[in-house]
Amino acid sequence: MKPIYFDNNATTPIAPEVLDEMLPYFRQFYGNPSSMHTFGGQLHRKIEEARAKIAALIGAEPEEIIFTSCGTESDNTALMSAVESYPQKRHVIATRVEHPAVLNFCKHLSRKGWRVTFLPVDSSGRLDMDAFLKAVDDDTAIVSIMYANNETGVIFPIPEIGNILRERNILFHTDAVQVAGKIPVNVKELPVDMLSISGHKLHAPKGVGALYVRKGTRFYPYIIGGHQERGRRAGTENVASIIAFGKACELAKEHLDKEADYLKKLRDKLEGALLKLCPDAQINGDVKNRLPNTTNISFKYVEGEAILLRLDEYNICASSGSACTSGSLEPSHVLRAMGIPYTAIHGSIRFSLSRYNTEAEADKVIEVMPEIIKELRTLSPYGKG
Ligand code: PLP
Repeated sequence: MKPIYFDNNATTPIAPEVLDEMLPYFRQFYGNPSSMHTFGGQLHRKIEEARAKIAALIGAEPEEIIFTSCGTESDNTALMSAVESYPQKRHVIATRVEHPAVLNFCKHLSRKGWRVTFLPVDSSGRLDMDAFLKAVDDDTAIVSIMYANNETGVIFPIPEIGNILRERNILFHTDAVQVAGKIPVNVKELPVDMLSISGHKLHAPKGVGALYVRKGTRFYPYIIGGHQERGRRAGTENVASIIAFGKACELAKEHLDKEADYLKKLRDKLEGALLKLCPDAQINGDVKNRLPNTTNISFKYVEGEAILLRLDEYNICASSGSACTSGSLEPSHVLRAMGIPYTAIHGSIRFSLSRYNTEAEADKVIEVMPEIIKELRTLSPYGKG
């Protein structure tokens, strides 16, 4: 049975057009793009075509795109490149709500002796700009602030932050993994030096990503070896996935505006109905500044994991704000940073939509959720029956 899939910030289904585009590169054209013979060498041109399509989605020049294995590698590469390129600078700035790909890399740098500032957010997940202004100093090697948060969808003021950093000549990286293909991104106007994206969040396969590096930015490779990617990222290219990523970006660019409208309407319908039909429910995150496809709702006095299990019985997929690690429920670091009470964090559910979601699917969730919440509240350890 086809799932009702509302977990697209975790990963997306591969678009059929994308799969069609990539399959010949497993079956037929399996050569190595670095080979001298035509069979392999012709793939080099296909990779460059894909690079141009990815660049076009974000307004970059093709040579500013470096292929990586995923969003995590792109994030790690950006941070590592900055600290290697500016060894005299010993300070790094990120936010408390970054994806672990940035957060844990910064913690790693902190253990290695760098000074790391993790900027706070307010109860709506908005960045504390005063804290940001206070944190920046001449010792800052890089500031890494996500474009939009994967759990709440809250969008940060990247242009404003970037302009301040540009004036101070400080490197700025943004993790745009959840943004690319959902809202317009144009690095020609956006004051960022590096920007991460990932294939599997926009209907390409897992295992391929890209890092945009603005021309003129000092860069130091993270993966060292062969001459691929003009010496900026070694390793034989993941040809089929790169071609797929190119196709997915082309589709995303073509449909961006229409799709964003569709997603917002469907998300708002789902969200509005759930808030109306389920008492003690609240939205987490700044509703005025959110990705069009994401809603994060706390159903107080219930365990998110229990909700997910009940949804699973209807083959409905979503995510919760608490992750089950070694038998205990670890509350989301994002919602904790926002100061959301634990009873609300534990009952938080993220629905994230894609172009493949239908009105009928949203209706199914709207039909089953109120009953699930009611039933779970009667069993709630928080005593709200
Ligand atoms: N950054 C953000 C904001 C994400 O949401 C994710 C994935 O969930 C990543 C980075 C990591 O991307 P990947 O899974 O491609 O390594």
